[in-house]
Amino acid sequence: MTTDVQALLKETGAWLEGHFLLHSGRHSDQFIQMAQAFQYPDVVTAMCTALGEKLRSYEPRVVVGPAVGGIMMAYAVGHALGIRALYTEKEGGHHRLGRGFRIEPGEPVIVVDDVSTTGDSVRQAMAAAREAGGTVVAAGLIVDRSGGEVSFDVPFVSLATVKMSTWEPAECPLCKQGAPLTDPDTRKPVE
Ligand SMILES: [Zn+2]
Repeated sequence: MTTDVQALLKETGAWLEGHFLLHSGRHSDQFIQMAQAFQYPDVVTAMCTALGEKLRSYEPRVVVGPAVGGIMMAYAVGHALGIRALYTEKEGGHHRLGRGFRIEPGEPVIVVDDVSTTGDSVRQAMAAAREAGGTVVAAGLIVDRSGGEVSFDVPFVSLATVKMSTWEPAECPLCKQGAPLTDPDTRKPVE
């Protein structure tokens, strides 16, 4: 099955193009809110099955995802590969495996997440899996928002790569064109 992830994300409203005010205060011409795509279970299944197929050859027995996006991802990838699905939760600023989740010593683990720019959540989930005794064999993202710059100490796959342009308001070319600025959370114009 071929999954055109970019098309799916645009159709579901997860990948927006326009003129956005980011939380950092910078402006951007694109915005990705994966929760919009995750409204549709068949879309989650299609994307996670495609990602799972890219990770199958590493022969994982457990998939771990960092909450919140990684929970659904882990279950859908785990379902596609027929393996256990666990998730980590943030506790004191760091992702940990709680809820009595166990990984056997040396058990091969993959870590998945929905979208990442720095790879930080994936790295924290990898550390949690290793601390629990697992051997992390690969990592996967639906969208690599670093433009291909992010890397890990294990093989890494993604379904789409995007490099978002961001600007300080004073240097924003969209402001210079007079394009209305949008708040991506409310999807309404910024006053
Ligand atoms: Zn602007």
